[in-house]
Amino acid sequence: MSNNTKKPEADYTFRSEDDRPKKRTCLNCRSNFTSEGWGNRLCTSCRSRT
Ligand SMILES: [Zn+2]
Repeated sequence: MSNNTKKPEADYTFRSEDDRPKKRTCLNCRSNFTSEGWGNRLCTSCRSRT
């Protein structure tokens, strides 16, 4: 693996299981929502409030 070109959209397959869109529990209100990725741990309503 010498080709190290990074493209954000094509990176999903190399990421961990947690770093892709999936169902998560909101850290703030504990409701289930679809997370957009690793840094997304709040549901849409909680994020819009902050
Ligand atoms: Zn929430």
